[in-house]
Amino acid sequence: MRHFQKVLVANRGEIAIRICRACTELGIRTVAVYTEEDKLALHRYKADEAYYIGEGLGAVEAYLNIPSLIRVAQETECDAIHPGYGFLSESEELARACQEAGITFIGPRIEHLQMFGDKVKARQVAKAAGVPIVPGTDGPVSKEEASAFAQKVGYPVMLKAVSGGGGRGMRLVHSQEELYEAYDRASSEAKSAFGAAEVYIEKYVQRPKHIEVQILGDHHGKLVHLYERDCSIQRRHQKVVEIAPSSLPEPTRAAICNAAVQLMKHAGYVNAGTVEFLLQPDGQFFFIEVNPRIQVEHTITELITGIDLVQAQIRIAEGHRLDDSEIGIHGQESITTRGVAIQCRVTTEDPQNGFLPDTGRITTYRSAAGFGIRLDTGNGYTGARVLPYYDSLLVKVSAFALNFEQAARKMFRALQEFRIRGVKTNIPFLANVVRHPEFLAGQCTVHFIEEHPELLS
Ligand code: ADP
Repeated sequence: MRHFQKVLVANRGEIAIRICRACTELGIRTVAVYTEEDKLALHRYKADEAYYIGEGLGAVEAYLNIPSLIRVAQETECDAIHPGYGFLSESEELARACQEAGITFIGPRIEHLQMFGDKVKARQVAKAAGVPIVPGTDGPVSKEEASAFAQKVGYPVMLKAVSGGGGRGMRLVHSQEELYEAYDRASSEAKSAFGAAEVYIEKYVQRPKHIEVQILGDHHGKLVHLYERDCSIQRRHQKVVEIAPSSLPEPTRAAICNAAVQLMKHAGYVNAGTVEFLLQPDGQFFFIEVNPRIQVEHTITELITGIDLVQAQIRIAEGHRLDDSEIGIHGQESITTRGVAIQCRVTTEDPQNGFLPDTGRITTYRSAAGFGIRLDTGNGYTGARVLPYYDSLLVKVSAFALNFEQAARKMFRALQEFRIRGVKTNIPFLANVVRHPEFLAGQCTVHFIEEHPELLS
C-alpha cells in the first residue's frame, strides 16, 4: 500500500479541476500542466503547482506528450498520474511509461487498456463472460466480408472503427449501394482519428436506449456496480444529457447491472470503469463497449450514491480495499441510491447554427446555484477566453432531487438562471430538452434529438 503525497493531473479543463479537488480533500498535493494557449486557464491555478509543457508543441499535442508529462512528474516527485478522460486516459503507452518510471497510473491495469481499447477484443471478452453482444463480426473485416455479413443479418448495419471512441469512426449503412463508400469513409476517419484503419461491422440495433453501468474494482478481487445511467440523449452518437438512475423496470435494471459486473469480474477489472449497453424496446440488451476510465457523466452517479468516484479511484490506486475505512464500500448491498440526478453538458456551441462551436471572450458569466445544483466547470467565468483548440464543454450542470420530475424542473430552473454573454451556448436547446414531454416520460431513445428538430428553436 502506498500513500500518495503528490499527484500530477495530466489533463485540462473541468476534469483537471475535479481531480485536484478530490486530491486536496484527501490531503494530496497536486501538480497541473498547461500549454501556451492555456496559460490563463483555471486548472493551472487550482493546483498546488503548475508547469508549462507546451515547448514547441501544439495546443493539444502538448497534453499528449508522454515524455514531458513523465519528466514533470519525476521532477516534482509525484507518486501518481491521473489522466482524467480524453487525451491519454486510455493510453497503454502512458500506463507503461508510468510503470517504467515507478509512478502509479490512476486507472486500470495495462491489460485492461489493451482489452477495452480494441472494440473487437472487448466483444470477445464480453462473449467469453456470457454477456450478450450486438450480432457482429468477430474481427476487422474487408469490404467484401462486410458486404457478406450485411447480407446475412440484413440492413441497416453499423460500421465501426476497431479503436473508435467519442462517436467517431462510426457509419450507419442502410443498403448495399451505400456500403463500399461508407466503408472507405469509416476506415479513413478511423485512420486519421485513431491511427488504425480497421473497421468491423455490427447489426444496427433499432430504437435503443443507451444504458451504462458504473463499476469500481479494487486490487484485491472485490468489484461492485454503482448502478446505471441513461445516456440516450445524444447528438451524433455523443452524449448531451444523462440521467441516473434510469427509469427502467427493476428486473431489467438488475439484469443489466449484473451483466456489467459479470463482464468486469471476468476481466479482473481494477479501478473505475463503465460498461455500456444498448437496450431494445423489448427489454433485450447488448454490450457495446467498456470505457476504462472516469467518464464525463460520473457526477450524477456520485450524487445518487454519495460515493466520490475520483477519490475512490485514487484510494484504489494506492492499494486500498473497497471495504476499508478509506473507501467504505462494504459489498454490493452497502451501495444504495437515493433520488435522481440529471446532468446537462453546457457547450459553447450554437444550436441555431448546426451546433457550430463558438469562440471568443466571455463578457458576462453569471452562474446558476442553489439547493441540489452541482457545477463542474473549467473556464466558466467573466473574461475567460473560449479557444478553438479544445473541447467546447463549458460547464457541466448536475441537478439532484428526490424524483425525476423534480430533478428535471430543478435543471430547467438552473439553466434559466445562467447568463452567459460573449459566446453562444447550447443552453436554450438544453432547456427545451428537459421540458420535453418525451423526456419527462423517460422514454427517449438515442434518436430523440434527431427526431425533434423543434428542440433547436
Ligand atoms: P464510441 O466509443 O464512439 O462512443 P459506442 O460504441 O459507445 O461508440 O456507441 C456510441 C453510440 O452509437 C451508442 O450510444 C448508440 O447511440 C450508437 N450505436 C453504437 N453501436 C450501435 C449499433 N450497433 N446499433 C445502433 N446504434 C449504435
